[in-house]
Amino acid sequence: MVERVDLTDALSIFYVRPDRLPRKRPWFTAGQYCVIGLNNVEKPELGSVRRPMSIASPPERGGPIEFYVRRIARPDSQNPLTPLLWKLENGDRMYMRAVAAGVFTMKDTVVQSDSRIRVMVAAGTGLVPFLSMIRSEVCRNPHADLSRWVLLHGASYPRDLGYRSELLDISAANQLNYWGTVSRPAEAPEWTGDVGRVDSFFEAARLRDLESRLGLSSGGFNPGNVVVYICGLTGTITSTITALIDRGFVPNSARIREALGVAPEIRASVFYEDYGAEPVIDINDPLVVEPLRVRMQAALSLDR
Ligand SMILES: Cc1cc2nc3c(=O)[nH]c(=O)nc-3n(C[C@H](O)[C@H](O)[C@H](O)COP(=O)(O)OP(=O)(O)OC[C@H]3O[C@@H](n4cnc5c(N)ncnc54)[C@H](O)[C@@H]3O)c2cc1C
Repeated sequence: MVERVDLTDALSIFYVRPDRLPRKRPWFTAGQYCVIGLNNVEKPELGSVRRPMSIASPPERGGPIEFYVRRIARPDSQNPLTPLLWKLENGDRMYMRAVAAGVFTMKDTVVQSDSRIRVMVAAGTGLVPFLSMIRSEVCRNPHADLSRWVLLHGASYPRDLGYRSELLDISAANQLNYWGTVSRPAEAPEWTGDVGRVDSFFEAARLRDLESRLGLSSGGFNPGNVVVYICGLTGTITSTITALIDRGFVPNSARIREALGVAPEIRASVFYEDYGAEPVIDINDPLVVEPLRVRMQAALSLDR
């Protein structure tokens, strides 16, 4: 680990220099993750722990690999990674498998010629894959026009909206539509941006506001005009997917599609990367699935 930069008490950027990188360059695609880990030195009986971590740096950039990590205050596991990560000093060794994995990338989700608006929904460190994607566009073309890219980033407090000044700069230079939203505005009276959780942008009463910001007509926020990407904890993904069902957005999950009765020829329009461990939709619970299935069928029949 080359360096840790603390953005808050619990949110830090880790710069890691692997001993070896694959010869092929770039060796990953924006949106992918790799596995990092540590041995538990203080409690060796617990052994080592490894976790997937999205790559924040763009593939085109040389130098150390960047990760943006939240220190978990109340971990679930017996031997959690993040408390160990925060004990590292600059220069300490750690495990990083320099093999990129994952299909939460632009090329694995939509065809290159797809001109629909790309709405990226990030909760907390769920920003990371989108940060790499946006940085990659700007690395390849500093004048890239990102006016059809939309980044919605949610956090509890303004200070938790990591990388905000860089994103505001890209927004000014490359027309990225970037809106941060905070869910505890009462504790941040200086905040003048959006309030509420990031998924609240998609509540029926607020969707019209997003449509007008994006220059869409009423009802225009639909899979014909928009493709949605979500990254973060399960709750954000579940509520965004659920809200968007009424607009005919189809999640990219074979099991959810089947449970909601979506025909195979209807292409997916919501893609997600889940940092949590819970199922996004409990397809085995009829009380959950049945109402969603009815709403999905109603939305799809309107499209026909
Ligand atoms: C593909 C993928 C990419 C990931 N990329 C990142 C990343 O870029 N940055 C990052 O901080 N984490 C990321 N994670 C989460 C990471 O793998 C670990 O789960 C997280 O660091 C907690 O590990 P732990 O061992 O300390 O805690 P554990 O004992 O494993 O506790 C996990 C608990 O923390 C919650 N949790 C996990 N990640 C977060 C988070 N980021 N913010 C808030 N709560 C969380 C889980 O829901 C669960 O309740 C990613 C996960 C996946 C599956």
